[in-house]
Amino acid sequence: MVDRLVNTESNARRIAMVENCFGSSGVPLGVPGRVLVGEGVLTKMCRKKPKSRQFFLFNDILVYGNIVINKKKYNKQHIIPLEEVKLESLQDDAQCRNGWLIKTVTKSFAVHAATSTEKQEWMAHITKCIEDLLRKSGKKPVETHAAVWVPDNEANICMHCKKSQFTVLNRRHHCRQCGTVVCGPCSNKKLFLPGQGNGKAVRVCLQCYDTASKVKVSSPTGVNNNSEQRNSADSSGGDSSGDDDDAAANKEETHDEPKFYSTLLQR
Ligand SMILES: [Zn+2]
Ligand SMILES: [Zn+2]
Repeated sequence: MVDRLVNTESNARRIAMVENCFGSSGVPLGVPGRVLVGEGVLTKMCRKKPKSRQFFLFNDILVYGNIVINKKKYNKQHIIPLEEVKLESLQDDAQCRNGWLIKTVTKSFAVHAATSTEKQEWMAHITKCIEDLLRKSGKKPVETHAAVWVPDNEANICMHCKKSQFTVLNRRHHCRQCGTVVCGPCSNKKLFLPGQGNGKAVRVCLQCYDTASKVKVSSPTGVNNNSEQRNSADSSGGDSSGDDDDAAANKEETHDEPKFYSTLLQR
């Protein structure tokens, strides 16, 4: 049980190790009541391609980062509050058998474990942490989550007009609402979406814009996006916070099984 590890020396030591591995690229993680529940490498589906990321499950947050040196040095630290996380198992096609979605208000993505057993372990531990958190705080699970972005290479033509072919010049854009890959003209509208854009309207496809406009005729949240000329605009939001960068030193191919420090069976 997680609570048994609070205030133990072993827990404090493990958290200090994690802090150490992120060094100055991370934030202090040792706060009262926090427990490191488990850790391991998962494959994260990024915009361009799948990448190995080191994940740390705490009883209140999920932390992940790029692996610079396996078990020694990580950077590009991301922190996800578990309170807003929803998990969704992927199992339809064989490729996704060991995968699941981690959905949050600000970003959602798919991860894959090496085996189905490891997937079960991860999902069970994360789910338990979320349940415990919500029970303690008395809060309701968050219902609105960011779209999972369709990877770039899954769309050679615009998923909205089905005509526009993507090239170096005709760049891909992602609808922040549904996650589809669309061309510029098919995503020249913006909407205010909860948790995204830091108070600014974000890019959506015409279909999502139309749907939202119909729902909220009296108080439209959409704004025109005609002023947008910046070609790099699509690099805002989603997966782009440096998370897609490859860690040059990470050449390790060996697989380490995840470690969990609290067993769900002991209650
Ligand atoms: Zn289009
Ligand atoms: Zn859309």
